[in-house]
Amino acid sequence: MSAWLITGGSPARRRFEALELARARLCPGHSEDPPCRDCRRIQDFLHPDFLALAPEIESGPIKIDRVREALRFASGRPYEASARVVWIEKAEALLEEGANALLKSLEEPPAFLTWILGSESRDLILPTVRSRCRLHRLAGDSAPGRTGRFRDHGVSEPDARDAAAFGLEPGDDRDLDRSREIRERTLRALASGETSALLLLAAEFADDAEWASLLAALLRDAAVLASGVEPSMLIHAGAASEIRRVSRAYPADALRRAAVEAAGLAADDRLNRNPRLSRERVLLGLRKASRPGRGIGGRRSTRGEEGG
Ligand SMILES: [Zn+2]
Repeated sequence: MSAWLITGGSPARRRFEALELARARLCPGHSEDPPCRDCRRIQDFLHPDFLALAPEIESGPIKIDRVREALRFASGRPYEASARVVWIEKAEALLEEGANALLKSLEEPPAFLTWILGSESRDLILPTVRSRCRLHRLAGDSAPGRTGRFRDHGVSEPDARDAAAFGLEPGDDRDLDRSREIRERTLRALASGETSALLLLAAEFADDAEWASLLAALLRDAAVLASGVEPSMLIHAGAASEIRRVSRAYPADALRRAAVEAAGLAADDRLNRNPRLSRERVLLGLRKASRPGRGIGGRRSTRGEEGG
């Protein structure tokens, strides 16, 4: 994948990372000190194979004409270097039309081309754009001296950790985005403790054996967290705060029991039992043990809700 999305950190820090990446692509043999002529031209935005696309007005949008211009540049052969780089400092300033125009090139750029997009937050970027980019997330506070990761393995720590939790190859960003989204939805439903939300989950993922193992891991994590273990010990440490909400909504022993049952779901699937019903059994069994009013959906009334 030759499209990067750099998020988080300060604008200066994102620019620094982008320029580092551009230097690595356009001047592979460059030395740090003193910077060579090419590196200086990249830094000054004067390199003929480096294009920076910015809004015309500070907080304005990036107009479609500018996007088309960038696409023409992106499809042309390099002048001097063996590569071309386009840097979109504020990708959130792309309007929908402009973002859509980029999609094809982001997905299948010519071999010599690298896109670098930047944004304060990945949440500001259209999912269609985001899923086509390799994510490079910077910490909220910039830790100096942690550059060069692009050239090492190109995956930030949280991404690598989440990829491992989902059993994905590091750098498989499309599946990572989707897996995170499913995890988020699952945790939200669990924390709400609402029957309808839980039934929806059971129906949606009735045929998904991977989801069953995700559910088992999340319930295990919630049980572990409830017993006072460090969040860093969680399988899904990247979702610790959402998992904590789940752990507050149910007693630890109910979570542990449900985790074991969830782990058995995959076996049920193989025996061809009704997978949707077995998922419902686990989720609604857990719900029965829920602590009223402790989850996100704390508006449930306890009055007259005995039995269940
Ligand atoms: Zn250089």
